[in-house]
Amino acid sequence: MTLELRGVSKSYPGGYGVKPIDYYLDRATTAVLIGPSGCGKSTLLRMILGLIQPDSGSVFLDGEELTSENALRIRKKVGYVVQDGGLFPHLTGRENVLLMSRYLKRDVCQSEKRLMELMELTKLPPCALDRYPAQLSGGQKQRLSLMRALMLNPDLLLLDEPMGALDPMIRMDLQKDLRQIFRTLKKTVIMVTHDLAEAFFLGDEIILMHEGRVVQRGCATDLCDAPKEDFVSQFLSAHQPLDLKGGWSESPVVH
Ligand code: ADP
Ligand code: MG
Repeated sequence: MTLELRGVSKSYPGGYGVKPIDYYLDRATTAVLIGPSGCGKSTLLRMILGLIQPDSGSVFLDGEELTSENALRIRKKVGYVVQDGGLFPHLTGRENVLLMSRYLKRDVCQSEKRLMELMELTKLPPCALDRYPAQLSGGQKQRLSLMRALMLNPDLLLLDEPMGALDPMIRMDLQKDLRQIFRTLKKTVIMVTHDLAEAFFLGDEIILMHEGRVVQRGCATDLCDAPKEDFVSQFLSAHQPLDLKGGWSESPVVH
């Protein structure tokens, strides 16, 4: 699925919201949205999904403009992992993942088959399926959230800080698995993070936001070698000590 934003904006009293953005993302590409807290990353994702109505501009998915009439239909083609994972606490892992398939009355055998495929893909231990979210580790919850988002085989995947609350070791495992998943599935992905090393590791393209505005987009080398504004260099250097300490065994993806 391709994604296009034409002049999409949202303002909030007292906040930055999102200033008008023009953007095009090709299919099977992973874009990582990064920037300080409050810069508008989650708001932008919600506008792409049609959960927030932009003040101006339009969102186009595969060339079709998102409207209040088609939002529900189009949303079925989009997988979304909310910032805290969003698993329902009163449902088991299995029930969480199968929620939409059951609601849409999809074939039970097919859904079960899909569930098994996704367990393999996300490396979820089978015992996690019959537990409630409170009985699961952070990593298992994130894997389940990802499985739920992938259940209906979406064309576009929106992930809002999918590794937000994980400890570094589990985070690194999940980052490696996630990169493998993106490469295997060849989906269009927009992922939010505030971690620069993660953005370089997972993104074909990085979109750096600041105060509701896209400051620079490009690959890791574009940002490092040709920062467009002082803010870009400041943002990169603020992450430097962390990157050196927690450095990757694999080098960042550079295209
Ligand atoms: P991020 O995900 O980058 O941390 P958000 O998209 O959540 O940022 O928020 C962007 C800005 O919009 C922030 O300044 C925030 O305070 C403001 N904002 C977001 N949602 C609302 C809301 N429902 N009401 C008022 N202000 C909001
Ligand atoms: Mg956010």
